[in-house]
Amino acid sequence: MGKRYKIVFEKKACIGAAACAAVAPEYWEMQEDGKAHLIGSSTDEDGREILVIDEEHLGEKLKAALDENVEAAQVCPVQVIHVYDEESGKKLV
Ligand code: SF4
Repeated sequence: MGKRYKIVFEKKACIGAAACAAVAPEYWEMQEDGKAHLIGSSTDEDGREILVIDEEHLGEKLKAALDENVEAAQVCPVQVIHVYDEESGKKLV
């Protein structure tokens, strides 16, 4: 099994600043309700959007995908985007 990273988006706390969509448009888009949407994600019972990106599906593109989402998390003014290394459980951002 290759590397896997989990992106967790606390959508309820999103203030719609759109910084995520500006730096990572392949993964983040703005919705009509003014909040961001993590493209391809599923929603958990707490309304958080979750997406796993992995080496199995993305191959060499995983590093770029990880970098994009880490950057999205870093530019979010209210820090509602988090990225975890699934292997170690470590929170990257
Ligand atoms: S940058 Fe943060 S607050 Fe702004 S739209 Fe994206 S997730 Fe929401």
